[in-house]
Amino acid sequence: MPIKIAFFDPYSPQNSQYDGKAKPPYRFLGMASQARARGAKTFIVEKGSGNIFQAIRAIEAFQPNVVGISTYFNDSCHRQALEVAAAFRGRAKIVVGGYDATTNPLVIEEFQPDYLVEGEGELPIEAMVEANFDPEKINPETARITKAGRTYIVEAQQAFDLNLLPLAHETMDSYNTRRKYQEVVINIARGCVGQCTFCPGGKQKVAYMSASKVIEHIRSWLPFIYPNSIIDLMAPDFTTSPNRANEIIRAINQQPDLQGKRYFFSVRGDTIAGALAKVFDDGTIALAEWENFLNHNRVEIEIGFETNDPQRLVKGHFNKINHPENNLGHLETLLQLAQKTGTKVGIDLISFDPLTSVEQVADDYALLNRLTEEYSDATYIFPDAIFRELKPYPGTLAVTIFGKNGFILTPHVKSIPLQPYEDHRSKALLDTLRGEADFFGIQPRLPLSTTLARIIALADFFCRSNANGQVDASFFVNHLRENPPQA
Ligand code: SF4
Repeated sequence: MPIKIAFFDPYSPQNSQYDGKAKPPYRFLGMASQARARGAKTFIVEKGSGNIFQAIRAIEAFQPNVVGISTYFNDSCHRQALEVAAAFRGRAKIVVGGYDATTNPLVIEEFQPDYLVEGEGELPIEAMVEANFDPEKINPETARITKAGRTYIVEAQQAFDLNLLPLAHETMDSYNTRRKYQEVVINIARGCVGQCTFCPGGKQKVAYMSASKVIEHIRSWLPFIYPNSIIDLMAPDFTTSPNRANEIIRAINQQPDLQGKRYFFSVRGDTIAGALAKVFDDGTIALAEWENFLNHNRVEIEIGFETNDPQRLVKGHFNKINHPENNLGHLETLLQLAQKTGTKVGIDLISFDPLTSVEQVADDYALLNRLTEEYSDATYIFPDAIFRELKPYPGTLAVTIFGKNGFILTPHVKSIPLQPYEDHRSKALLDTLRGEADFFGIQPRLPLSTTLARIIALADFFCRSNANGQVDASFFVNHLRENPPQA
């Protein structure tokens, strides 16, 4: 009897925190393909727009021996994932992986899984299928196994070869497909030189899909997308290897049928600046290839921005351990190019770390303000990022607001070594903030200056000394109400 694995994707395009676009369940396609190559039967169940009980019934109908669940704590997906784990505990082996399984030790406590996959899932799932989910038999050359309580933690021994990811039509019998998608996601690279402790991208080994395979993947999705659908060339940092990224851009430029498309990808500011400055072996300037690419397509580039202060990028703040380069320091070339070619550069603010002073935050945002004013056609900021993505660290005032109930701030905040965050953001706080959507800028896009003023006000609140160290959600809301930031 083959092993039957149901993968549960808790994301829903209807969830207001996402962009509402219908995408295939790309997180699981590689794992489904690797498991099937070893004889397993697989089925991917998406939460989608249905309710959680429909999803549970769909998983039940498949009668799996194994249920694989993706974890991401920052939104309602977390609750959906927990419900599925609870529904199948004791009936099937529970395997968790994904964002929080990789970065947050609390996943084990909450999910009590049989297996937790840290980092990439393809090689571990292949090894587990091969071993018939017997931990003793898992090939140690493929996956390393450790144990925490009753949970086996599995981690790939080497990077997965992204050229093995399945093309569009190769896994379509693994999920309920749509006729067309508004966005397709091709995982063209993994790993990031940043190595930030809060990001699973920093924990993946650096790997790239070959340029020719990227072309094959894009082509394989063309029958399943609309003319204005987004082709997401997914990577934590597309330009982590500037040369590999440049090869991909050049390969796309050489395909007439792949022009006039809509592309999206994420980069670090410093690595894309590096990519633009390269020269190909044949003497072609990379900047010319990028200009060609941006001119002939509708492109949106997302840049995560923490700070421009090298001291704050190193251990103790953002923990960009090996590469504390400036984040936006050399970006002007890209912004000029973006302005010229109609490209949109979105800056995803990672607001500040708990040890940041208000002055440092203000300095960074003065830089952002200048860039967005100077390149106003090209640049925009995601103003809601601070509320969506804030990840407090244990032992900080932020945790007393967003974190576990009853967590008491120690008076020696500055001496606490930072660890990966615990993100138990309280439902009460988010509900309160959402109730004030206009004031706090969670839903509508606000003018940049207003957003930045609010972020600085929030930083001010976090950084100021607080007599008893215990803060509840209403205290925070009242604080901002009484001290409205000046736009
Ligand atoms: S620089 Fe960005 S993508 Fe890279 S590890 Fe840090 S947060 Fe993740």
